[in-house]
Amino acid sequence: MARKIGSRYTAHQILGRGSAGTVWLGEGPEGPVAIKLLREDLASDQELVGRFVQERTALLSLDHPRVVGVVDLVVDGTDLALVMELVRGTDLRTRLERERRLAPEAAVAIAADIADGLAAAHAAGIVHRDVKPENVLLDMRGPLGPGGSHPALLTDFGVAKLVDSPRRTRATKVIGTPDYLAPEIIEGLPPRAAVDIYALATVLYELLAGFTPFGGGHPGAVLRRHVTERVVPLPGIPDELWQLIVQCLAKAPASRLRASELAARLRDLLPLVAGMAPLDVDEPDAEGADEVNDPYEGEGDDRELSAEPRPTAPRRGAVALVPGSSPDSNRDTHT
Ligand code: ADP
Repeated sequence: MARKIGSRYTAHQILGRGSAGTVWLGEGPEGPVAIKLLREDLASDQELVGRFVQERTALLSLDHPRVVGVVDLVVDGTDLALVMELVRGTDLRTRLERERRLAPEAAVAIAADIADGLAAAHAAGIVHRDVKPENVLLDMRGPLGPGGSHPALLTDFGVAKLVDSPRRTRATKVIGTPDYLAPEIIEGLPPRAAVDIYALATVLYELLAGFTPFGGGHPGAVLRRHVTERVVPLPGIPDELWQLIVQCLAKAPASRLRASELAARLRDLLPLVAGMAPLDVDEPDAEGADEVNDPYEGEGDDRELSAEPRPTAPRRGAVALVPGSSPDSNRDTHT
């Protein structure tokens, strides 16, 4: 079922489906590529296409070993496609689902890789805005690093910005997964680099614990926790690592570390966590008391957020907020 994308690319087979579209294994003039074909409703939005083209230069120039490179942007009739470097492997969500928790050494090594990718992006003035395990690809062809983990690459730059512009968020109720949202975004401030650091610290916590620090239950409750709650300590990890996580989960963006410093600090911690077994922690009961105070309770359909039915297990974790999508359901088809 080959399909032409623009004049230079052919899409052969679906690698996975995400919130913004479908990712295909394809072929271009320079060999195999991954082609993200954006959803039709996104591709037919003229304003969005304009922004997409505007972002083009920045996205194409972001060239770093820890970032999945964007090779081309194709606007062709009703097709809007992002042509990317093909990563042979799996995404971090799939690995996390398989292993539930990662050994601290692997978790720290992966977080350091992501921080490296973010440092390059931030230096180029690009904020990712949607750092989460689904957007981290593990390159199975790359060399094994600390803790036996393959190199991690950050993907989906620029897509969050396109998909959740204020107008679109209102029109289609599409917003990102709430588990990784920094408090300042929830309070309506423009997302700056520090939102990526908050999201990365959330991912690191999740890799260690098996659940996110503020996730679980109704999306409204998740948002409130980001703004008001303190992170619950994880027993059994070295204090230096814990302090780093706490600092990067600070409610005040200015208190968080910069990506380059976070990467360096994480790498410094690798010897300390070498050989540690995955943590043994109990998942909090997210359906507990705080759900009683759900701010959206009883508001019917007028609320701004709309959620898929809640997953029953695990209680804490990503909540899909894109109506009608089944996020990342097809990851098994990955090369
Ligand atoms: P999401 O919207 O959840 O971030 P994506 O649309 O980016 O998901 O990707 C969906 C799936 O496609 C991923 O889980 C991954 O398995 C696969 N994929 C995405 N980008 C690439 C790539 N550059 N190379 C190989 N596979 C990819």
